[in-house]
Amino acid sequence: MPISAGKSFPTVAIVGAGMAGLACAAQLRAAGVSVSVFDKGRRPGGRMSTRGVDDKLSFDHGCQFFSANDPSFDQQVKSWIEAGVVSAWRGTVVELGRGRITQKATARTRYAGLPEMSAVCSHLATGIDVRSGVDVNEVRRIDNKWHLLRDTGASLGQFDALIVATPPAQAEKLMTHSPSLLVAARGVRMSSCWTVMLAFEERVGSSFDGAVVHNSPLSWIARNSSRAGRIDTTDCWVGQSSAEWSTERRGASRDAIVAELADEFCKLVGISAKPDYLAGHRWKYAIPTTPLDKDCLFDDTLNVGLCGDWCLGNRVEAAWLSGTAAAKRLQAQGAGI
Ligand SMILES: Cc1cc2nc3c(=O)[nH]c(=O)nc-3n(C[C@H](O)[C@H](O)[C@H](O)COP(=O)(O)OP(=O)(O)OC[C@H]3O[C@@H](n4cnc5c(N)ncnc54)[C@H](O)[C@@H]3O)c2cc1C
Repeated sequence: MPISAGKSFPTVAIVGAGMAGLACAAQLRAAGVSVSVFDKGRRPGGRMSTRGVDDKLSFDHGCQFFSANDPSFDQQVKSWIEAGVVSAWRGTVVELGRGRITQKATARTRYAGLPEMSAVCSHLATGIDVRSGVDVNEVRRIDNKWHLLRDTGASLGQFDALIVATPPAQAEKLMTHSPSLLVAARGVRMSSCWTVMLAFEERVGSSFDGAVVHNSPLSWIARNSSRAGRIDTTDCWVGQSSAEWSTERRGASRDAIVAELADEFCKLVGISAKPDYLAGHRWKYAIPTTPLDKDCLFDDTLNVGLCGDWCLGNRVEAAWLSGTAAAKRLQAQGAGI
């Protein structure tokens, strides 16, 4: 018997309010399940977050755009477009390197949050009990229930089922009761990435809004102000390092990294002006390099599962598909909860 609306809904805890955790939560909530989502970040979004500065500047410092290949995700994207939280990004994207600029052709539409990437996860979180700023530190199994605890030891409640929607390394401490799931997840590797955020009072005079970069510490640069719905008066850009460069520079100071990437950015766009705002962010677990090739991991006897982009790929679409799959596994398992 699948989980369905009734007098006593089973309770589900989800750790992680990125795309995977929220897709899972939204699917369960629509089936009448009581869901609580915990995230250590200040707002939902995870790697789809937006960094705001003084209500003036904003940078999509993680995910840049996403595409939809799977028909069910395509449907979901259409509903976000109707809700006004996603639109196509029509910026000019090129390839930079080997001394020339070439137009980067793409068969698929590039989508972005409207007006910024964080809008997508904020929309998904609407009506869901999402508790931000909560680092889940420990999970205990007592009397067939999952007990979640903060680092202070304070209880976050007890639940019938648990879904951990974080990168595998962050799931380690929460999955000690399910070693077989952990063993499978440990095979997944994730690369790190440095993002540099730059803002210029005067618009940068480049002929493109985004570039895939070759032979450079930066592998991608983009004018965030070119997204639909943005009314920035300042030109906001992000640059993202290649995984190899990020690994090579492990141990270097934040200031040195940010300065080096900012100089490289200015060289690439051909300007000598210094940015009026400059900051950096390191994504320790940025992109899965060896995905699992399974939609999610689930233990039917304990009602516990793992999901995330890393299960199926390294993109937003993979995260949504994985979160949705975890919810379906739980729904199919309803009788046991
Ligand atoms: C720099 C960068 C660029 C990218 N560019 C693109 C792109 O152009 N296109 C694309 O499709 N994808 C891109 N991606 C990948 C995309 O962002 C991810 O695939 C997707 O957002 C992953 O979602 P997720 O829910 O699986 O994980 P996450 O977004 O990582 O969510 C996991 C959440 O778990 C929380 N968490 C972890 N541990 C705990 C704990 N103990 N307690 C509470 N909360 C916890 C974290 O705070 C986080 O919010 C990019 C990623 C990065 C980093």
